[in-house]
Amino acid sequence: MKTTNEIILQSLGAAETVTGSKHLLRTPELNILVDCGLFQGIKSLRMKNREELPVHPGDIDVLLLTHAHLDHCGYIPLFVKKGFRGKIYMTPPTKDLTEIILYDSAKIQEEDAEKANQEGYSKHKPALPLYKTEDVDFAISHFETVEHSSAIQLSPHISFQFRKNGHILGSACVQLNCFDKTIVFSGDIGRYQSDFLLAPANMSKTDYVIMESTYGDRLHKGDPAEQLAAVINEAVDHHGTILIPSFAVGRAQEIMHILNKLKKENRIPHWLPVFLDSPMAADATEILCNYPKWHKLKHDECMSVCKDVVINRDWHNTKDIIHKHGSKIVISASGMLTGGRVLEYMKHLTPHENNIILLIGYQAEGTRGRALQNKAHEVKIHGKYYPVKARVVEISGLSAHADQSELIEWLKSFQQLPLKIFLVHGEPSAQEVLRVKIQDELKIPAHIQQQNQAITLFNTNVYANATSL
Ligand SMILES: [Zn+2]
Repeated sequence: MKTTNEIILQSLGAAETVTGSKHLLRTPELNILVDCGLFQGIKSLRMKNREELPVHPGDIDVLLLTHAHLDHCGYIPLFVKKGFRGKIYMTPPTKDLTEIILYDSAKIQEEDAEKANQEGYSKHKPALPLYKTEDVDFAISHFETVEHSSAIQLSPHISFQFRKNGHILGSACVQLNCFDKTIVFSGDIGRYQSDFLLAPANMSKTDYVIMESTYGDRLHKGDPAEQLAAVINEAVDHHGTILIPSFAVGRAQEIMHILNKLKKENRIPHWLPVFLDSPMAADATEILCNYPKWHKLKHDECMSVCKDVVINRDWHNTKDIIHKHGSKIVISASGMLTGGRVLEYMKHLTPHENNIILLIGYQAEGTRGRALQNKAHEVKIHGKYYPVKARVVEISGLSAHADQSELIEWLKSFQQLPLKIFLVHGEPSAQEVLRVKIQDELKIPAHIQQQNQAITLFNTNVYANATSL
């Protein structure tokens, strides 16, 4: 399958949608995949997780992972099960977080399949998990860690390094030196103004950029801490509970840090209990303290992130938290309300108007989170409908994703503007706005990647006389 002289880009996921990130680069020496995520959200997307990839995993030599979010790493166990035998490179914090995420993902899938079979609400008979815990065991034996900015030679003419991109703990973009060109895969680009994570690193001269575009048409407005305090105080005034669905990794820790600060500054009641109900989030918080070079928190701040928070690992206690009297804040995964313990809270909290559901992250099309954003009057959970009477509030400034101005700022941080941009990881409307903005403001041609479309980036004459490898 390797080409003789072409360098070809093909997106197997996150093309005109935000989930399922998988970007393949075919070269004369290696076939490289950047990210290997699950499709999430609407059913037609989720079904893609069960389809065969257009390339056999055994024909791919290397996998480079930008960060630990499920839409970037969640397909790895299946990918390895289907025959991938190469190394999977990632930064050390990403390795720790990805292991947690994948074990949790396998567990959720096993439990969901079991529940669906018992209660008969799946159309698949029997419902089967995409992968199991033992598949994760096998997949993680392929993991290799690489420090930030360390160059790794993959083949005679290909090397890469990870560069911090400020999205979550350990996240990085991939800078690939491929023959005599440089190709950057952005991963998910984070925020420039954060007192939690370091800003994205400046980038060296690059020819091609494969770039995310999640918030390509939006600006995050206002001071998120101030907005958060206002929402919390409103719920407390109404004796309500604030439910914050959050990715357990990264966001939960940042929210806890902000809540901590708001309490210290007396901007929210200091007595207000905060629960972090996710076994995964608790582990992710420990990992945060192990990697001081990857965030801005001092050691004591890092330790105190969890000080005022009740961390619940055991799902048996979830009911007790739900029925605990009085106002409280609950942070629970998943962030887009696609699964996990947060759904138990939803069942009890959404039917009451004194509660607030606070959305802080991107809500993909087809998720319950998007339905709430679109003012759905009811949500379906485990085969039953629940009315939405709680107030739904969104604070996009707490998102881990750069907004349009930060995406443009990131492109301007390159030593020299790139030759061409390929937009991925965005919905078509956001991508189109960003494409035009990049062309108008930076005069760089930008192309919106389509699923499985193969594009020749350039030709190398290194193997011009070779017929095949
Ligand atoms: Zn992400």
